[in-house]
Amino acid sequence: MTCAERLWARVEPQSDGCWVWQGAKNSDGYGVIRTDAPGHPLEYTHRVSYQVSIGPIKAGLTIDHLCCRRDCANPAHFEQVTREENTRRRNVRRARERREMRQWDQHLASIRHTERGKK
Ligand SMILES: [Zn+2]
Repeated sequence: MTCAERLWARVEPQSDGCWVWQGAKNSDGYGVIRTDAPGHPLEYTHRVSYQVSIGPIKAGLTIDHLCCRRDCANPAHFEQVTREENTRRRNVRRARERREMRQWDQHLASIRHTERGKK
């Protein structure tokens, strides 16, 4: 089996559209797979998926998971971006998560407040 065949054989499509890699992952949670290159070095599954499905990854560019799932291998969820853009997007997402967390806290607080008011 080629590297690409092994990749597709071990992804599990999810209802949300992500193709979740069932094989090995590195400590950051990214899927890794042995390549067909001499010595079979490990490569990220999202990079293999991108290259066999879409095309070469330009030097200096990195693959952004639009779905934010590090073990997702669905090429439709990837975009080739610069490292700076990837970092900028991560910061935007973190800020949004913090904001949503805060809104949720406020929401819970208002529920508790309402419940107390009823008594
Ligand atoms: Zn995905």
